[in-house]
Amino acid sequence: MKDKIYLSSPHMGGSELDFVKEAFQTNWIAPLGPNVSQFESLLEQYLQAGSHVAALSSGTSAIHLALIILGVSTGDEVICQSMTFSASANPILYQGATPVFVDSEAETWNLCPELLETAIKDRLAKGKKPKAIVAVHLYGMPYKVTALRAIANKYDIPIVEDSAEALGSSYNGQKCGTFGDISILSFNGNKIITTSGGGALVSKKLAHKNKAIFLATQARDDAPHYQHSEIGYNYRLSNVSAGIGCGQMEVLDKHVSLRRDMNLFYQDLFKDVKEIEVFKETNEKVYSNHWLSCITFTHTTAKLNPEALRTFLLTENIEARPLWKPMHLQPVFKDAPSYVNGVGERLFETGLCLPSGSNLIDADRSRITETIINYLKNSV
Ligand SMILES: *Cc1c(COP(=O)(O)O)cnc(C)c1O
Repeated sequence: MKDKIYLSSPHMGGSELDFVKEAFQTNWIAPLGPNVSQFESLLEQYLQAGSHVAALSSGTSAIHLALIILGVSTGDEVICQSMTFSASANPILYQGATPVFVDSEAETWNLCPELLETAIKDRLAKGKKPKAIVAVHLYGMPYKVTALRAIANKYDIPIVEDSAEALGSSYNGQKCGTFGDISILSFNGNKIITTSGGGALVSKKLAHKNKAIFLATQARDDAPHYQHSEIGYNYRLSNVSAGIGCGQMEVLDKHVSLRRDMNLFYQDLFKDVKEIEVFKETNEKVYSNHWLSCITFTHTTAKLNPEALRTFLLTENIEARPLWKPMHLQPVFKDAPSYVNGVGERLFETGLCLPSGSNLIDADRSRITETIINYLKNSV
């Protein structure tokens, strides 16, 4: 069997191990220490726009703390992009709140501004003002930043910007991860950079960072003994993991550029195939890290469809995955209110994510090309 070509696997740059060794040599094997502070300041410098960063154990925990800080509690409603990974929505349930799912527009695959406004008006008419809007930059593609911000401001509802997939993306020259009232990042193993598992909460307000760290370290009051006036969590990033993150920051921009090259590779590979479109930017303001490169089939037959291509790639040990299945179609969220226009469902049915890692080599690309050409020969 040939080596597996993964969708997106960890890609170390080289100096990660030095930071981890340093943690061992100085015995900082704890969820605090110099790597944690350094990783936070590296992220703050990278994101700019007055960002304050709290390093956490996951992107999911960052969303959870963002909701707590914004005051989401039992019985509240929170609007959430339907076309996303379940981790965008689950923390709403952790707070005893109800997710209200809103579908996407076809250009960026993210929250549809018109439908968002319809949803907000309808929830207001039903007597409940949504407490927050969870907006996602899917696969690294920036959402419609200006339009969503205008609606959020008009109705005075804060945005939780789920930038888990979009570190290194930007809109109008400003980095994703700086557009939310609170934003979050993920450093899970499959993301653009990884700490083996980790995340961050980002805000322009230093008070948000301090509150996130307070809640993430068991909410200890300022006293010599263990005194608690609030419920705390164990959500801080460890100093060992943060060391991996410090090393990864040295190669972040290089990895973004390599992922963007993978997207160009697929654009070239499919340029003469009229039934298949590669997901890409539609104007100059938008810069995607192309965390994953995705295609959609504009026309399907019994032989030509995402599932047939996925299983064909698998016979050559090449991993491909369906797009995220919208949350309003998930059994676990079947009772949640949703505002649907069909875009998410169509993307799920016609889309496929292809190997996109920054660590793919020419031989991998040749194997992918050969396999896809073989597939198309027998199916178009
Ligand atoms: C990965 C991901 C998360 C969760 O991040 P973890 O670090 O895995 O907890 C949240 N939202 C989206 C869109 C993601 O892709």
